Amino acid sequence: MRQRVFGTTGRSVAIVGQGTWPVPDRDALRRGIDLGLTHIDTAEMYGEGRSEEIVGEAIAPYPRESLFIVSKVLPSNATPRGIVRACEASLRRLGTDYLDCYLLHWRGDPSLADAMRGLEGLVRAGKIRSLGVSNLDPWDLREARGALEREPIACNQVLYNLGERTIEDHEEPWAREHGAALVAYTPLGRPRGARGEAVLAEIALAHGATVEAIALAFLLRFENAFVIPKANRIAHVEANARAADIVLHADEIAAIDRAYPVRERTGALPTN
Ligand code: NAP
Repeated sequence: MRQRVFGTTGRSVAIVGQGTWPVPDRDALRRGIDLGLTHIDTAEMYGEGRSEEIVGEAIAPYPRESLFIVSKVLPSNATPRGIVRACEASLRRLGTDYLDCYLLHWRGDPSLADAMRGLEGLVRAGKIRSLGVSNLDPWDLREARGALEREPIACNQVLYNLGERTIEDHEEPWAREHGAALVAYTPLGRPRGARGEAVLAEIALAHGATVEAIALAFLLRFENAFVIPKANRIAHVEANARAADIVLHADEIAAIDRAYPVRERTGALPTN
């Protein structure tokens, strides 16, 4: 499984991870881990804690250090005391005593500064190894960074797929400039136009891969990018694992770029 350094953490992490929303399948997660998909994304929100419990069951037989576990705090819990309680509850459900990265799920009430200081306190307390954010645009990211005393923002997890590429002009450059990982959620989303499908199918044939694997490989062409597809079907897990080994040629990237062009962003950062 191809790995790369996850933002500012210094950790080598599988470029294809496993999503867990709304509720994952324990055996599919284990198949993924066995194939090297050791990067697992979850959140207290998913299934109101049920996803974290299933992840906890799935990871129990594996050495903890071999895994990269990410969870997220709801903005409503990101108060100075609430964030400690929320993190401890996530750790209990996951059956672990630390998270590799803990993210603010999106910007909400209370303040972004409180959330960032809360995350920083959890790093100091040894409950999380790094902190990150999700669904923040460069303006929010600047504010979040300004509220942190010394910890860097390890990643920004954003909606990124062939149908939604506006982050390439906004959040991706920010991440690259600040050494942060760019984590693509809902990476398999795409408009189902015949022309685009034909382009993907031809490239997939050349690589002996599925069109979904080609879509993931396209997102992974950025050196700081990770994808976290969610798959409950074992065949999907296996196809996603194979995506990590696909490196697209420049002419293939150009063909996909033409078929699924970047649109100009007209409003706020799109979310799912
Ligand atoms: P996704 O991963 O793009 O798509 C999931 C769907 O694709 C499922 O129906 C799955 O089917 C199918 N699938 C998976 N692998 C496939 C393959 N190789 N070929 C064909 N179909 C395949 O969308 P998502 O679940 O919305 O996003 C992924 C993860 O991102 C979530 O699970 C969650 O962890 C995270 N997320 C984060 C946010 C945020 O705000 N930070 C928001 C949304 C999602 P089966 O399950 O039947 O295999």
